Amino acid sequence: MEFRQLFDPETCTYTYLLVDEASREAVLIDPVMAQVDRDSALLEEWGCALVWVLETHIHADHITGSAVLRSRWGGQHVVGARSGIEGTCRKVHQGEPITFGRQQLEVRETPGHTEGCVTYVHHASARAFTGDALLIGGCGRTDFQGGDAPTLYASVHGQIFSLPDATTLYPGHDYNGRTHTTVGEEKAHNLRLGGGRSLASFQAVMAALDLSEPAQIHLAVPANLKGGDQ
Ligand code: FE
Repeated sequence: MEFRQLFDPETCTYTYLLVDEASREAVLIDPVMAQVDRDSALLEEWGCALVWVLETHIHADHITGSAVLRSRWGGQHVVGARSGIEGTCRKVHQGEPITFGRQQLEVRETPGHTEGCVTYVHHASARAFTGDALLIGGCGRTDFQGGDAPTLYASVHGQIFSLPDATTLYPGHDYNGRTHTTVGEEKAHNLRLGGGRSLASFQAVMAALDLSEPAQIHLAVPANLKGGDQ
C-alpha cells in the first residue's frame, strides 16, 4: 500500500492518503476544505481513483474537504453510524470492513471525544488512524458533541490499546510537530491514558481542562453534519 501523511498548518490537522498499488483505488481520511487543491494535485500525480472519503468524526475545528473532493473525483463519504450526519453517505459500524482494491480497513467504534468517533485499522501494514480519540501523548477533549470521559477511557483501552504494541498510530492532530506513535508507546507513556492510569484519574484530568471553544465550531459542526456542503 502507498501512503502519505499530510498536514494543515492552520488547524494542525492530519489527512491521510492510502492507495492500493495495483488497482490505484484510494481513500482519504479526514481531508480539510482549505487543502482540497493540495489533495487533488496528489491524487492526480499518483494516478488515483478516489473510492472512499473517510471521517474519523464530525470535526469542530475545520470543515471537511469531503464534498468538494467527491464532486471532483467521485467516491463515497464514510462516517461512523453514531455521528448524527445527515444525508446520503455510508454509515459504518463496529467491525465493518472498508475495501479499496486489495486493501481493507476495519472500523472500530471509539466514542468519547464525540459520540460518533471511529478508528480505522489497516491490519496488513499495522497502522491505525485514531482521529481525536487518541492523540500522541494525550487525547481529544470530551466536553462537547456528546463527549464523555469514561466512554473515551473505555474506547481507548478496549479498541486501541488492544491492538498489537507495534501498531503505528496516526492521530487526527498534533500541535507539537510529532507525526505518529505506537500502541506500546502510548500504553506506557500517554500522559492521560497510559502508565496504568485509572479511570478516576483520567476523569479528574479531563474535568479540570477548562478549554475555550474552537474558533470555527459554529461554522464547522453544522457544515460537517451535511458532509461539508456549506
Ligand atoms: Fe475533533
